[in-house]
Amino acid sequence: MQNFTYYAPTKIVFGKETEKETGALIREQGCERALIVYGGGSVKRSGLQERISASLEDAGVSHVELGGVVPNPRLSKVREGIELCRREKADFLLSVGGGSVIDTAKAISYGVPYAGDVWDFFAGKAAAQAALPMGCVLTIAAAGSEMSNSSVITNEENGLKRGYRSDLSRQRFAVLNPELTYTLPPYQTANGAVDIMMHTMERYFTSECDLLLTDALGEGLMRTVMECARTLRDDPANYAARANMMWASSLSHNGLTGCGSVEDWASHQLQHELGGMFDCSHGAGLAAVWPSWARYVIDADYTLFARFAVKVMGVVPTADERETAERGVAAAECFFRSIGMPTNIRELGYELSEAQIAELAEKCTNGRTRTVGGLKKLDYGDIVKIYEGARG
Ligand code: NAP
Ligand code: FE
Repeated sequence: MQNFTYYAPTKIVFGKETEKETGALIREQGCERALIVYGGGSVKRSGLQERISASLEDAGVSHVELGGVVPNPRLSKVREGIELCRREKADFLLSVGGGSVIDTAKAISYGVPYAGDVWDFFAGKAAAQAALPMGCVLTIAAAGSEMSNSSVITNEENGLKRGYRSDLSRQRFAVLNPELTYTLPPYQTANGAVDIMMHTMERYFTSECDLLLTDALGEGLMRTVMECARTLRDDPANYAARANMMWASSLSHNGLTGCGSVEDWASHQLQHELGGMFDCSHGAGLAAVWPSWARYVIDADYTLFARFAVKVMGVVPTADERETAERGVAAAECFFRSIGMPTNIRELGYELSEAQIAELAEKCTNGRTRTVGGLKKLDYGDIVKIYEGARG
């Protein structure tokens, strides 16, 4: 087990009608002028925005709004938010939405006090020294950004999708009302389920072999997400399934399922390049690359893959451990298909050319200057092979 620091300072306010507490929660932080960040309009259509405005008004918190955040959120919107925030002298950022909205608010929060260009953080040229306080009302169980320390932004000028991590971007509070996710299109619910699974899988597939508690927590979380995803496919307004999925979203990406692990994150890197090139949904992109990644690295530790097969995927073990491991990968593909997710890039909707694979692999390895992954370190040549395997 590696040494670790576990830091999860976000106050969670969970349950029905909890969005009514938003104004008081901002006040609790000593703030009184919020910039509300939201997406393409689902929160307006559902009436949520109105309820939140009323809650802020009741608590004596004034606000301005920044709408129009798109999935795979763009740098230009972050810059617009920084300007607006400075002009309006907002002292708090409230996200109402999912990962794209929260990640945009995070970037705005450390962009406001920074004299240079906010992309510097994502390009690895600067580290944030200060940030405005933030909180969120979550509307989709997926990215886990409500408890994570990372933000992922797409620079539309160069097609690069890059993440930046800083504890300054932890949310002061996250309001989690599972009922707010009833209006999600089934495709988004499934996308979210894959992303939640993957946040734990990226931590579970590790060279550390004595993480008894961390592994058990992860296995329980993954089994729960699969069960809830199947329930929601047939019964989208099932409160128990929505509630467990939402809690899993937060716990899967607040570090709990990675304590002591050497984490992997290769599948996320592979997906980020796809997202930057094709603007595809994050969860679907992960489902499209993971099986190829798994088959490519399986011999780094097929005992671990066999454990995943048995304890998470419910595979009946055979005498041949490697065969059990392979069945686990096939079972994960079956699960992805069962909730309408792709298992390769063709099913995701794209025919990859050789030139595109080379470009993706260049970007993934920062021009062949770095390896990605923890379980097996992958260089440019490995990444090309994984994209080839994921073509379909
Ligand atoms: P999202 O991109 O925030 O939202 C996806 C779509 O779902 C949007 O079109 C949104 O519509 C819609 N939607 C959200 N809530 C809804 C609701 N209650 N009813 C109806 N529609 C709703 O989804 P996400 O999966 O949470 O975030 C994905 C992004 O997060 C990606 O860029 C990914 O790379 C990033 N990510 C970040 C982290 C992190 O830790 N920071 C981790 C993993 C992934 P509207 O726009 O109309 O609201
Ligand atoms: Fe993710």
